[in-house]
Amino acid sequence: MIEKDKQLQQALEELKQADLYRSRRVIDSAQGIYLQLDGRQVLNFCSNDYLGLANHPEVIQSFKEAADRYGVGSGSAHLVCGHGLEHHALEEELADFTGRDRALLFSTGYMANLGVIAGLMVKGDTIYEDKLNHASLLDGGLLSGAKFKRYLHNDLHNLQLKMQGQEAGQNAMIVTDGVFSMDGDVACLLGLSALAEQQSAMLLVDDAHGFGVLGRSGGGIVEQYQLTQAQVPLLIGTFGKAFGTSGAFVAGSEAFIETLIQKSRTYIYTTALPPAVAAATRTSLRLLQVDGWRRDKLNQLIMHFRRGAEQLGLELMPSESAIQPIILGKSQKAMQASAALLKQGIWVSAIRPPTVAQGSARLRITFSAMHDIAHVDQLLSALDAVAI
Ligand SMILES: *Cc1c(COP(=O)(O)O)cnc(C)c1O
Repeated sequence: MIEKDKQLQQALEELKQADLYRSRRVIDSAQGIYLQLDGRQVLNFCSNDYLGLANHPEVIQSFKEAADRYGVGSGSAHLVCGHGLEHHALEEELADFTGRDRALLFSTGYMANLGVIAGLMVKGDTIYEDKLNHASLLDGGLLSGAKFKRYLHNDLHNLQLKMQGQEAGQNAMIVTDGVFSMDGDVACLLGLSALAEQQSAMLLVDDAHGFGVLGRSGGGIVEQYQLTQAQVPLLIGTFGKAFGTSGAFVAGSEAFIETLIQKSRTYIYTTALPPAVAAATRTSLRLLQVDGWRRDKLNQLIMHFRRGAEQLGLELMPSESAIQPIILGKSQKAMQASAALLKQGIWVSAIRPPTVAQGSARLRITFSAMHDIAHVDQLLSALDAVAI
C-alpha cells in the first residue's frame, strides 16, 4: 500500500517533468463565450458547445419543467423502472430525424461506444479502426475480444490492405469518428461505406463532433453525405457537444437496437439519464434543426479564423470544422502557448500525448455560434502576440 503510494508519487513527478501532468481548472459560470475562471472573465475557445445550446433559455426551461414533474434521478436502469416518457420520446424523435429504424439512449458517449461495439462484436470477429479514433472507440474494440486492427488515418488504401485477410462469412466492423476530435477533419465516409459494402462489413460512425454542426438541418456527417441506414448501419451521436446537454444515442436497424437492449452491458447495468436531461435534449434537437443560422454563423467564424490565421503565417490543419488545431510539437511548447494566451484573457486548451501522437502536441481551438467576428479577431491578435 505505502509502496504503491511512493511509486505513484514518483510517476506523477515524472509526468510533471515531461510537461504531461494534467490539471483541472475550476470555472464558476455557465458555459458561454466568457467563462469565470479564478475570479476573472476569460474568452472561451475550448468548449464543444458548438451551437451555444448548453445555456439556452428554452433548453433550461425544458429541463426545469421536467425536473418539476419527474424529479431529478431516474431511479434505476432503463430495463428496471428508469425508462421514462421523456427518454422514449427522445429516442423516437432521434430515429425519425436520422431516418433510422430506431435509436437507443446511453448515459454518455463513452458508454455508448463501449456498449455498442462490445455488445455486437465477439471473439472471432474483426474490428478495423482509424488510428485517430476517439479513445472510447478503441476501448470498445479492445473490450469486445474481437481481432483488433488499426488502419492509417483516413487511408482507404491501407484499410483495404488490412481487410485482405478477411474471410467470407466472418463478421467485420469498420469503426470511425465522423469529425476527428483532435484534428477536426472529416472521415472519408463515401469511400468507407463503399468498402464496407464490398467487404460485407458493418460500418460504425461516431459523429460526436458533427451531429448538429454538419448537414443542412444538423443531421451531421450522414446528412452531409446523404448516407442511409444501409450505408451507415450504426450511427452514434453524443449530447454533450452541439446539443449542449449530456448523454448519447445510437441509431440503426431494429435488430441492432433490440440486440443492444438485450446484450449491451453499458446500457443494461447503469442508471438511466435523468428524465430532465432527456427533456432538455429534446428541445436541443428541435432547436438545432430550426436554428440553421447557428451553423451558418459557425461556418463564417471558421472561415474568418482560417483566413486570418493564414495571413499571420500560422500553420493550420485541413479542417473545415469548428475544431481548428495548431500543431506545436513538444508538450512544453503547447503548454507555454496556452498559458501565454490565458495571460491575455483567452482560454485555448493544450492537447498533449497520449491524447494525440508523440510530437504533435497542439493548441485545440474550438468555435461556437455564440462567438462574434470581433472575438475571433481578438484570438488572432493574441495568437500573433504570443508568437507561437
Ligand atoms: C466526446 C466524445 C465521446 C464521448 O462522449 P461523452 O458523452 O463525452 O462521453 C465519444 N466519441 C467522440 C468522438 C468524442 O469526441
